[in-house]
Amino acid sequence: MIVQFGSARIELVLGDITVQQVDAIANAANAQLAGGGGVDGAIHLAAGPKIMEELQRRYPDGCPTGSAVVTSGGNLPSRYVFHAVGPIWQGGGKKESGLLEAAYQACLSLAEKHTCRTLAFPSISTGVYRYPVDLAAEVALRTVAVKLETSDQLDLVRFVLFDQGTFGSYARVLETMLV
Ligand code: ADP
Repeated sequence: MIVQFGSARIELVLGDITVQQVDAIANAANAQLAGGGGVDGAIHLAAGPKIMEELQRRYPDGCPTGSAVVTSGGNLPSRYVFHAVGPIWQGGGKKESGLLEAAYQACLSLAEKHTCRTLAFPSISTGVYRYPVDLAAEVALRTVAVKLETSDQLDLVRFVLFDQGTFGSYARVLETMLV
């Protein structure tokens, strides 16, 4: 599914973020930048040890929730990885939506700073961090759409969704944004 926003597109695909041919991919990291399972494990496995070395050297204090740091792409097809830390879902009363929005915004700012035209996101926070997918999809898609309306830098933001249920949630939300 592809939708035009301003001069750029939002695309939803079912797949693996580690094989995307884009300038940068976002990672759903933890605040220690310590490596984990899920998409983080897949990205480190595919990228090789270089990006973990880079994280430890450049960001020894980790990365606060709602922000992101950049490394090279290691062995990935993309030039950069933006390691974003989304919130752990705690019922919705702990500023989770603002923190999730901030994590996406941090990646969009890094994309502009590093002159990326194409950027791919996983569904941040909806795995181990248990953020409800329908709610996360609304935050993710709205944050990206608002940015694309005013950004000249980005041509394409692709959400790479790992399972059919997550893809369906994002597709339903994106459809509601068309009317
Ligand atoms: P978080 O801790 O932020 O919840 P997870 O990695 O546990 O992060 O999950 C985030 C989403 O990433 C989940 O929908 C999960 O299924 C998905 N995911 C896992 N592996 C990949 C991958 N290789 N490519 C894209 N998405 C993935």
